[in-house]
Amino acid sequence: MAYKYDTQNIFAKILRGEIPCDKVLETEHSLAFNDISPQAPVHVLVIPKGPYVCFDHFASSASDQEIADFSRAISEVCRIKGVSADSGNGYRMISNAGPDGVQEVPHLHFHILGGRRIGRMIQPG
Ligand code: AMP
Repeated sequence: MAYKYDTQNIFAKILRGEIPCDKVLETEHSLAFNDISPQAPVHVLVIPKGPYVCFDHFASSASDQEIADFSRAISEVCRIKGVSADSGNGYRMISNAGPDGVQEVPHLHFHILGGRRIGRMIQPG
């Protein structure tokens, strides 16, 4: 089954400049911005600029340049926000996919959560 990308999803609109975002970092292939409804003192979303629904779509279809850029963007966001496990206190990185993953926005994004103890990895429900 092919991945179906919805060009009207909210992150596609942010990438097209139709909706503003609170930008943290922009690179050639990636964009990072603060989550509109933060669940922790640091809550940044990192997205690729390409039309990928979720991580397995991205990992199987994106170019090596996009994958490298995205990985480095995540690292840079951790440094900018002071949550790197090297110099800071660490973070949790989450990427939800599909209905069982409870993904709300169907454009690949990684949540970078930090600035406090994030708690158990999986909540019931
Ligand atoms: P997920 O459930 O993994 O798809 O998460 C979607 C995330 O996008 C949620 O944490 C929302 O708070 C966040 N979100 C939705 N709309 C916006 C927006 N316009 N700007 C920033 N974050 C948003």
